[in-house]
Amino acid sequence: MRNPPAGNLDLNAAWASQAHEVLSALGTDPATGLTETEARLRQQRYGPNQLQPAAQRPVFSILADQFKGAVIVLLLVASTLAFVFSEFVEGLAIMAVVVVNGLIGFVTEWRAIRSMESLTLLDQAQTVVTRDGVSRRINAQELVPGDIVNFEAGDIVSADVRLTAVIQLQLDESALTGESLPVDKQLKAIPPETAVSDRNNMAFKGTVVSRGKGSGVVVATGQSTELGTISRLVATAEPQQTPLEKRLDVLGGKLVWLVLALAAVIAVAGIFTGQETFLAIEVAIALAVAAIPEGLPIVATIALARGMFRMARKNAVIGRLSAVETLGATSLILTDKTGTLTENRMSVTAFWTAGHSFSFSTDGRAKSGTAETTPEMIQLIDSVLDIACLSSSATVGKTRLGKTFFTGDPTEVALLTAALNRGIDPVQLSADLPEIDHIPFDPESKRMAILRQGDDGVIVAVKGAPEAVIPGCVLLRGESGDTSLSDAKRQALLEQAKVIGEQGLRTLAIATKQRKPGMEDCFGELIFLAIIGLEDPPRPGVREAVERCRQAGVRVSMVTGDHAATATRIAIEVSVLEPDFKPGQCVDGTNIDRILSASAAPDLSAIRVFSRVTPEQKLRLMAHYQASGQVVAMTGDGVNDAPALKQADIGIAMGVRGTDVAREAAAMVLRDDEFGTIVEAIAQGRGIYQNIRKFVVYLLSCNFSEVLVVTLATLAGGPLPLLPLQILFLNLVTDIFPALALGVGEGSERLMKMAPRPADEPILTRAHWLNVGLYGLVISVAVLGAMMFAITVLEFERSRAVSVSFCTLALAQLWHVFNMRDETRRLFNNEITRNAWIWVAVILCLALIMAAVYLPPLSTILRLGNPGLSGWLLILPASFLPLFLAPVVKWLAARMAQNTQNTQNTGTAT
Ligand code: ATP
Repeated sequence: MRNPPAGNLDLNAAWASQAHEVLSALGTDPATGLTETEARLRQQRYGPNQLQPAAQRPVFSILADQFKGAVIVLLLVASTLAFVFSEFVEGLAIMAVVVVNGLIGFVTEWRAIRSMESLTLLDQAQTVVTRDGVSRRINAQELVPGDIVNFEAGDIVSADVRLTAVIQLQLDESALTGESLPVDKQLKAIPPETAVSDRNNMAFKGTVVSRGKGSGVVVATGQSTELGTISRLVATAEPQQTPLEKRLDVLGGKLVWLVLALAAVIAVAGIFTGQETFLAIEVAIALAVAAIPEGLPIVATIALARGMFRMARKNAVIGRLSAVETLGATSLILTDKTGTLTENRMSVTAFWTAGHSFSFSTDGRAKSGTAETTPEMIQLIDSVLDIACLSSSATVGKTRLGKTFFTGDPTEVALLTAALNRGIDPVQLSADLPEIDHIPFDPESKRMAILRQGDDGVIVAVKGAPEAVIPGCVLLRGESGDTSLSDAKRQALLEQAKVIGEQGLRTLAIATKQRKPGMEDCFGELIFLAIIGLEDPPRPGVREAVERCRQAGVRVSMVTGDHAATATRIAIEVSVLEPDFKPGQCVDGTNIDRILSASAAPDLSAIRVFSRVTPEQKLRLMAHYQASGQVVAMTGDGVNDAPALKQADIGIAMGVRGTDVAREAAAMVLRDDEFGTIVEAIAQGRGIYQNIRKFVVYLLSCNFSEVLVVTLATLAGGPLPLLPLQILFLNLVTDIFPALALGVGEGSERLMKMAPRPADEPILTRAHWLNVGLYGLVISVAVLGAMMFAITVLEFERSRAVSVSFCTLALAQLWHVFNMRDETRRLFNNEITRNAWIWVAVILCLALIMAAVYLPPLSTILRLGNPGLSGWLLILPASFLPLFLAPVVKWLAARMAQNTQNTQNTGTAT
């Protein structure tokens, strides 16, 4: 076993010691890292590598919050009045309502908070660590002091690390120091008193690798890191409300005043029409309590959070609640190609060198398309593959069981595989010609170079997009030596790359040179070797997903770094582009800037493929689409994609191949990198929004019917159809449970056959408000009609008639939940009847209504009696009336909304 961390070295100032001293003090070897056993022991000793979570809201404060607000004040006033008027049972019952109301609010809010907390666990950071001599990805939380970690451009450093190896490593430390320029890193020890921002041999937790590669040993984790010290000061983060929750809050706030005004009218009218003063006030208060929709934002939170879980199960991890809501309104997806539309499983299938085209098979055989494959040609191919391997930063190794494994970018891995298949050993090659420097691949320049030490000097191995490499080539290598390259020949090479691209292959040009003294530029004076074509087949299912988007009115455009020919071919295969597309539908990167600056608002709506796009152009494109009113979802994976991902309405990062930086900037991470998952998430987003609308319409129409029943009866000077406690009971029972069940249902499948909702559309449209009004009216008519019938025809005495109106209203509200179905669906087979929670809510509510009528002392307190057989024979049909009239109501609401719309349009036109 290794030594435990010891020695008299001050690990709090690891920058002041040499790397090897820090390594030995921590008892670790840079090549093999810690053993798993030792890592486990250290984890027990140092705890998980995580910052203290932001201070949680104490349970007591959540509970206390439930007893604030207009509803509670109203109930307390009612209860006090009851005691003042010596109505003790009534007073106590209202107090019970206060407690039950508070508890329901508490449980709902608690659930919402819990859901939000567990959501943060869904997307945990990963890091590459070497343990037991093997490099692998682990959860960053498992890091311990002494671990050897490796990082490259795009990674976020997960602990404080003393660097032990760097290749052009640059870190963006702005999160820690506020310094916006990237900082170059080196290995030498520096004085102990050096300030954090100048400790250039350290990589700190939370900083971002903006360039190069590095590795080092973890010296501090979790709260002991520099970031931990800072975060202790800012550890109270309040969760933000989503726009939807805010709008619901505003809606609720407006309704409060309306309801209070109405309650005052009812109280005054009641007193004037001869009701007892206390009863009139109590009824008004009960109605106000019932009608104030105080639970809307919380139910929305639960619906959004549950939706996030459902999406996570389908591999779309959402970072913030508001994204769920925006997803539903997405009208344009700007997707990259490699890995999202294609499999990102590259293999070399075409090869062009010295005027000959070869096809490559998986067993490594190269076959010339034009002539006999001569031994000289084979030799040339192999020497090109040597350089291709030397220009690749991917690695190949063997597991203990002897299985070959690769690490690195699939494009580069494909080159190693092709070489291996031809019997070339990339490991040996790399050992013979060790890497001395490295210019990493950059999506802006689209090329990279690796410098290697040969016996006769430094060899530069270059690969990249043909347009990025060929202009720097001055010689062309053939079977019998190098010949010079004219402009015309260079143009012919580019044409050749286009031909390969037209087969849907990704193209790479390979070039090399011997570096001479004073020759600093790696990409000039090169010898052109070959163009390699890599096949990356479209993912299965993408075609169907693109088709689904089309039906859902969501446009899909491909924005790729690849060559126009490759991009176009793949776009046709996945049906982003029609085979008989018009030339203007594909735009190359070189033309984007021109188009965007040609006019103030160019029309890009027909363009389906943007090729050879740089990350900076991605950002401009998106800003343009957003300005033209689109809600844009955009995918990305690289460091340079982060600004565009942040700017997008929905930034989507790739979980498998994406960098930490892209994941951090994005609103959604795809665990499987699949395009189909985006479409599924949009479907879910639409479903959730629809659910929220449904429960808002349901709650408001129930509340409205209660208000209307009592108002109409009071104004008509008739008997009260509902007593105050009955109203409160209905408010607690029939409203809450079905509404919650509506909030968590599956969306209707028709949603993906409709156009996206306009982003600025209010939660409730005119048609929704009309629905609320008309449903409320129909329910009230049914309740008042039943009561009148009971009194006048069946000659029920007053309290039995009230039981009839109470039961009719309770049941009508319960059945009303089935009116929330998609209007085109049948009454018995729709998304509501398929929602198991609805049935749970209905059964629970039925039991509670029965208890209210038949179970003393509840029935006594509520002053409800048995309606009897004749009563039930009246209640049942009356309560079903709104259910049967629903199609008429919906039709009428749609027509009225349409009419007002037309009138308004005419008004504006004239
Ligand atoms: P998308 O945005 O659709 O994923 P992409 O990932 O194919 O596009 P880039 O990765 O920017 O786009 O690649 C653009 C071009 O750069 C490729 O067509 C290829 O010619 C070249 N290229 C890609 N990866 C490498 C690499 N590792 N080394 C050298 N050149 C590369």
